[in-house]
Amino acid sequence: MLGYIFAGLFAIASSWFFAKWRQTARDLAAAGDDFLTGLPLRKKFASMSELIFRTVKSRKFNSSDMFRRKEIRSEPAVHDLTVLMFDIDHFKDVNDRWGHDMGDKVLEGLGVVLRRMSRSSDLDVIGRWGGEEFIAVLSTNIEGASLFYLRVAKAFAEVTQQLLGEDRTLSCGVVELATESDSLSGLRANADEFLYEAKNTGRNQMIGARAGEKVSTAKGI
Ligand code: GH3
Ligand code: MG
Ligand code: MG
Repeated sequence: MLGYIFAGLFAIASSWFFAKWRQTARDLAAAGDDFLTGLPLRKKFASMSELIFRTVKSRKFNSSDMFRRKEIRSEPAVHDLTVLMFDIDHFKDVNDRWGHDMGDKVLEGLGVVLRRMSRSSDLDVIGRWGGEEFIAVLSTNIEGASLFYLRVAKAFAEVTQQLLGEDRTLSCGVVELATESDSLSGLRANADEFLYEAKNTGRNQMIGARAGEKVSTAKGI
């Protein structure tokens, strides 16, 4: 008798927790955030980064010389902006060998790393672009973005070493804001092209450009 009561209570509690979990996932998605990583999803990311893009662009191209010189002394990075597209290398293999739940943990881990490595400034934003692809808009130049990639790649390898017992790698494409006619969506599309070049020429690397000219490549780990 007591067993039936416990079983009943357990069934009620677990369905309550499940409903609550689903509601939380729905609430987060409605707010534009990813349930797994807590990062903004594509649409929310686009509006957050557009704001940053406009701010940096107007500082880079519209300020008077005197105003810019004064600003540059106090905070040089705010005149630069880069877009980085990240993609985990051979991620399907992680799901195939360790299972989908472990794959989720790896994605969660990368979300934590990206957040930790970006400066907690109003001018940096990280998002989950979809699947195992992440995007960052950082208020730094391509050299700064290259250092960011290296730090992220190293920390990600440490996370996967802990979770899987193996160092796993990331590929990245990066583009720097260079001309007044640049648009954020144009820069993102260019970063995506460099990401595919990084994939097709060996993975575990970042390839980047400023004004269409290649200026940076870096090996991840
Ligand atoms: P590449 O190095 O070319 O990027 O290879 P890849 O295996 O990473 O790329 P591919 O596009 O073949 O596979 C991506 C995989 O990511 C397949 C898909 O099931 C998995 N994936 C996408 N979203 C999620 C998720 O939220 N959780 C888990 N566990 N897997 C996901
Ligand atoms: Mg992919
Ligand atoms: Mg991949």
